[in-house]
Amino acid sequence: LSRLKDKLLKTRQNFSERINHLFLGKKEIDEHILEELEEILIMADLGVEATQKLIQNLTQKTSQKEINSIDQLKQDLKQEILNFLQIEAPPLDIEKAKPFVIMLVGVNGVGKTTAIAKLAKYYKDQGKRSLLIAADTFRAAAIEQLEIWAERVGAEIYKQQPGADPAAVVFDGLQVAKKQEIDIVFVDTAGRLHTKINLMEELKKIKKVIEKSIPLAPHEIWLVLDATTGQNVISQVKMFHEALGVTGLILTKLDGTAKGGIVVSTCYTFKIPLRFIGIGEHLPDLHPFDAQEFVEALL
Ligand code: GDP
Repeated sequence: LSRLKDKLLKTRQNFSERINHLFLGKKEIDEHILEELEEILIMADLGVEATQKLIQNLTQKTSQKEINSIDQLKQDLKQEILNFLQIEAPPLDIEKAKPFVIMLVGVNGVGKTTAIAKLAKYYKDQGKRSLLIAADTFRAAAIEQLEIWAERVGAEIYKQQPGADPAAVVFDGLQVAKKQEIDIVFVDTAGRLHTKINLMEELKKIKKVIEKSIPLAPHEIWLVLDATTGQNVISQVKMFHEALGVTGLILTKLDGTAKGGIVVSTCYTFKIPLRFIGIGEHLPDLHPFDAQEFVEALL
């Protein structure tokens, strides 16, 4: 928890320190406090809708005397945020299939490749063998990057030449995964945004190939998002979710932003489980998301 707190320092400064400052020395809850709280939440990128809902709940509880003190207000604020973050979803159980196939999508630069490397390391530490499939054949550099990471982590990689048909690469890669009795497959996909329509068609095709190759796969489709891009995150979720049906989210670069409230905003808006958060550039800097722990680190 203390490490997570350190990594979330920028957000904490922008959020918890301002809230503590607001509450400091105050005994009574007045309208002014709730108004200022609202502003702090918006500034920390909790989003207008989530913030309004939260303030509405707190206002109601205050007027009904369910909240009587500043201490209680703080506790309730925590609880409200926790309620937004706790999304009902089956626990992630990669044991239920072999190979367990995760397709990763996201716009270039969000940290998708790094996230895949970190995931392979995370599962390797649990004794799992990973295969990374390099299906972003659009960029030669993407294949190279994935290869460097695979070597560093000690994971298998399946790749073809730049320009190869991504769906064909995935098809062949999955055959290799089956033959080699791989535990978990990560499919790295393209994220070029300038050809949005082509990209979505390419991703849909990859998804179909996975469905046809392995029963019930892809077991997960994870969208990787860059927390530093603030509310852009929301439009990206909409776009990818519409096209593919995203089953989980990864929010990266939470160490690099003061607007970590985007986590709350995203959970509140989409009710898609946040599976991991990225809190740095190194391999251990991917953290399984735990709502309770996150709230404790935040406030
Ligand atoms: P991709 O284009 O989506 O595959 O993005 P990359 O994985 O290549 O990452 C882009 C940049 O973001 C790299 O410089 C990474 O080191 C950096 N990065 C990725 N995740 C994190 C994170 O959680 N925190 C920080 N500070 N940097 C990150």
